[in-house]
Amino acid sequence: MKPQTRKTYVSETVAGLKPSGIRRFFDLASGMEGVISLGVGEPDFVTSWGIREASILSLEQGYTSYTANAGLPELRQEIAAYLRRKFRVCYRPETEILVTVGASQAIDLALRAIVDPGDEVIVVEPSFVAYEPLVVLAGGTPVSVRTSGADGFQLNLAQLEQAITERTKAVVICSPNNPTGTVFSPAELEALARLAEAHDLLVIADEIYAELTYEGEYMSMAAVNGMRERTILISGFSKGFAMTGWRLGFAAAPEDILQAMLKIHQYAMMCAPTMAQYGALEALRNGEHDVEQMRNSYRRRRNYFVASLNEIGLPCHVPGGAFYAFPSIRHTGLTSEQFAEQLLLEEKVAVVPGNVFGQSGEGYIRCSYASSLEQLQEAVKRMKRFLERL
Ligand code: PLP
Repeated sequence: MKPQTRKTYVSETVAGLKPSGIRRFFDLASGMEGVISLGVGEPDFVTSWGIREASILSLEQGYTSYTANAGLPELRQEIAAYLRRKFRVCYRPETEILVTVGASQAIDLALRAIVDPGDEVIVVEPSFVAYEPLVVLAGGTPVSVRTSGADGFQLNLAQLEQAITERTKAVVICSPNNPTGTVFSPAELEALARLAEAHDLLVIADEIYAELTYEGEYMSMAAVNGMRERTILISGFSKGFAMTGWRLGFAAAPEDILQAMLKIHQYAMMCAPTMAQYGALEALRNGEHDVEQMRNSYRRRRNYFVASLNEIGLPCHVPGGAFYAFPSIRHTGLTSEQFAEQLLLEEKVAVVPGNVFGQSGEGYIRCSYASSLEQLQEAVKRMKRFLERL
């Protein structure tokens, strides 16, 4: 029988989304042997045993049913205590905290809860690849505002103000930043706060890397004077607690916004995975020491790797957080795609071209240093050889 032809059912919005540029490089690298991958954005640690054990215990005890839509009450209480302890922001666990399927879902919910068709959402870039597509899927228009390597990718408030229109509803920021590792300074957060107040905007603050801040005390957007009422704070367990596969995150926001997010969540997801929530409970109660050890380990690797990149001729600012170095490759004359592709094919080192994170990422590559020191040393050797040949 002749195969039936049918129309394409994929929506125009989805068809119009670009596939993630990171995937393309993963696919290219996955078919090759002996590749050192500095491409992935995840910890190289296995989740601490205590967390795994708590989750196993919950299964042994038979806690296998749904939890409350917003998450286990005791987990929400722990999250509230954690936010108070760490960032000095207070949220009511009953109404202002939502446990989600990763920070990814929290970002999606935040956008879907606030965006009406045609609303504009400013995305500070270079940025995590999901923000812009999620704004589009929520029916909004993403407006990107660039930052520059010249000042270590700090917020550009003047450009940000210029991008604000009547339709602007929110600004998405991420600090410590993926891909640049930059931590926005308290002064800049303060300036952004005054801008948000002046133009009546929300800030969606993706703080998933907050635990991986290497210098000084972390300042949450929600802790800035007046911003608790204007911030949707997004965080989760993937990065700081090395729990990427558990798919557990959370959002904290003023009640009206959080309840709108919960409305979507209860229809679309019901609740986050129960056994993962028990693991997260243990992470918040007893995981601090392990987080500190992982943070110290990343800091050591950052110090080695960033100094080495600068030594071999890839200028790189010292990232204050996360586990990414974002060196400039501009002087090589190659585009970031060309650089990443040639480096992979010739020296088998996988990095991510900076342009996948937005136009201001062109001329840079993202290297994750969440790899063993031996692997980083070997990667530096190969990159040096590659640069000498260029
Ligand atoms: N936000 C940023 C900035 C990220 O880099 C990532 C993952 O790479 C996420 C959110 C998603 O985190 P989760 O695993 O909690 O969904």
